[in-house]
Amino acid sequence: MPKHPLQFLEVARRDPPKEAVETRIRHFREIYASYDGADAASQAGRCIACGNPYCEWKCPVHNYIPDWLRLVEDGKLFQAAELSHQTNSLPEICGRVCPQDRLCEGACTLNDGLGAVNIGNIERYITDEAWKQGWRPDMSHVVDTGKTVGIVGAGPAGLAAADVLARNGIRSVVFDAYSEIGGLLTFGIPPFKLEKEIVRRRRSLLEGMGVRFVLDTRIGDDKPFESLLDEFDAVFLGMGTYDYVRGGFPGEALGGVHDALPFLLSSVRHELDMNGGEEDYLDMRGMNVVVLGGGDTGMDCNRTAIRQGAASVTCAYRRDEANMPGSRREVANSKEEGVRFLFNQQPVEIIGSDHVTGVKLIATRLGKPGPDGRRRPETVPGTEHVVPADAVIIAFGFRPNPADWFADFDIATRPGGRVRVDSIGRYPFQTTNPKVFAGGDMVRGSDLVVTAVFEGREAARGITRYLGF
Ligand code: SF4
Repeated sequence: MPKHPLQFLEVARRDPPKEAVETRIRHFREIYASYDGADAASQAGRCIACGNPYCEWKCPVHNYIPDWLRLVEDGKLFQAAELSHQTNSLPEICGRVCPQDRLCEGACTLNDGLGAVNIGNIERYITDEAWKQGWRPDMSHVVDTGKTVGIVGAGPAGLAAADVLARNGIRSVVFDAYSEIGGLLTFGIPPFKLEKEIVRRRRSLLEGMGVRFVLDTRIGDDKPFESLLDEFDAVFLGMGTYDYVRGGFPGEALGGVHDALPFLLSSVRHELDMNGGEEDYLDMRGMNVVVLGGGDTGMDCNRTAIRQGAASVTCAYRRDEANMPGSRREVANSKEEGVRFLFNQQPVEIIGSDHVTGVKLIATRLGKPGPDGRRRPETVPGTEHVVPADAVIIAFGFRPNPADWFADFDIATRPGGRVRVDSIGRYPFQTTNPKVFAGGDMVRGSDLVVTAVFEGREAARGITRYLGF
């Protein structure tokens, strides 16, 4: 039973304060403040504890949402932090970057006019505040099994696997090619959505649990994969997807045309003052920028270009606004910050002689649903027009890029490059090489942070069973 059954009527849904547009577009820091304890408790108290919590079903890691909301309402912060970590290895990060409107909050019973419970911000508050007050994961019951696992990739799947293994008494060493942990959490998601200090804090929490990180080390180049098979009892691959999807239209090779990830990466490295950050910096200052793509990565590119001082940012998407794949919150933030959206517009050519001068678009209308259930855009003949551009950023998503050494170790992939794990091994997320497990984007294709966390956790459970525990 909820403590105050009518609180959802008496207290309106309230987001934490958001910084005004005029100031937030001048920096790269997070734009939302945090709840204080009283706000978190009163927002958590809006949960009506409906008998069948749809929010839990819709959350990819199946968080015990109503239970930790009740603990927050009761001021039992450390218990809430422990409970939240029973299902999610990166709750403070998912609380920031999940598209809650499509997941937990979209499924909240109160989302029907009364305003969903603010689940994401409370999830974020729990770990942020518990950490400040001295909470650390309770590992007192963990018995060391003596087993070790090598993890390739310090992105969400690898970190989640390391977390669950540590809680099962299995030590892991996480290898990553970059100089910081996090993968796309650090180098892909801009700091105005996820400050990098949050990822560093997670590193310190994991190190406190016994996880070791070996960075600046690319497996297959700096260290042979074979040595991992020799040194560890099992190996987990969480290497993500880093190949870009291109449009296949003329002009993509022109100067001034960039893929989303190098653009976002260069901006993060520049902001963080990292080695090489200056030489590779792709600066949009003073430019008319066109971003192609309507997902969260497209919104990240829009808002990064705005903060770099672009003269204008236009985002073209081939479906209508209702059918955009990303979070509505990020679309709204982009609009507030001055991005102009062109819906139902598909690029057919990037114009220019050696440097881009414009993008030719054609209007679309939505036709019949495709195999994915989404209505397919159909072009409308005779509607081509050119939008002037000094720079174009292509944000059509990522596709798997399997390592060329996979075949040497009997790690099979599907057509298209995703690693095969389903229905072939005895354990969840086991590859065709029984000692090797895999999860996250390299298995399911490019997807959300929270789905990679889920797969890393499930794979760690599979590894634990494979090792006999
Ligand atoms: Fe919602 Fe994501 Fe948290 Fe699940 S992990 S409760 S979907 S914010």
